[in-house]
Amino acid sequence: MSELLRLDDIWKSYSTPSGGEITILKGVDLTLSEGEIVSIVGKSGSGKSTLLSIAELLMPTDRGEISYSGRSASALSEREVQKMRGKAMGFVFQSSILLEDFSALENVAMPLLIQKEDRRKAFMEAERLLGLVGLDDRRDYRPRMLSGGERQRVAIARALVSSPLVIFADEPTGSLDEESAKDIESLMFSAVRKERRCLVVVTHDGEFASHADRMLTLSEGRLVDGKL
Ligand code: ADP
Ligand code: MG
Repeated sequence: MSELLRLDDIWKSYSTPSGGEITILKGVDLTLSEGEIVSIVGKSGSGKSTLLSIAELLMPTDRGEISYSGRSASALSEREVQKMRGKAMGFVFQSSILLEDFSALENVAMPLLIQKEDRRKAFMEAERLLGLVGLDDRRDYRPRMLSGGERQRVAIARALVSSPLVIFADEPTGSLDEESAKDIESLMFSAVRKERRCLVVVTHDGEFASHADRMLTLSEGRLVDGKL
């Protein structure tokens, strides 16, 4: 399997309100192969969201190197980074933001429409993915008419629609009740596997995390194999 993403010796500090500095990441290494599903667990405040933002090329690092398909991210122009984020990455958040004035189907198609894909193709692909997440019968619903779990399904379909190289999910079940969380967990893994995408999912739910191909723990600023 070829290597998709590599993080090499990533360091990150934040300044504190009292004028000090706190180092959150202290030499994180991570390699991700094509088609791999990796979960990252760790205590609240351990730096999981920080690490995702860095991998998503949203936040600069203090030290270290990030490369996608062997190409260093520091060699990319701002425009190339934007393009990568639009085309090569998909995102699912704890409470994913959907466009309230658009239907479920339009929300899923949106990334393709923004990339100026052919409208008919965009809607066909959006329809296929809504089917994959079990929402065929909700295609014309506005987000406010959907349950929390259904909104997350729309977000998963939308994250998959542009056939991204990798999907990043930060606590995707964090705002759901236990039963919907279980549904979304299994759906997320099966949809990503069916579409042969790569997934990095951050969660504090060890049970959820253990179903990934590989589970890592962020602890004391470093990623270690398995669960602590
Ligand atoms: P997690 O997602 O694991 O809960 P985060 O990455 O959100 O952790 O945060 C890690 C630590 O960094 C926390 O202690 C948080 O308070 C701190 N932190 C996050 N963002 C900032 C920021 N912009 N400025 C200062 N401290 C921050
Ligand atoms: Mg977080």
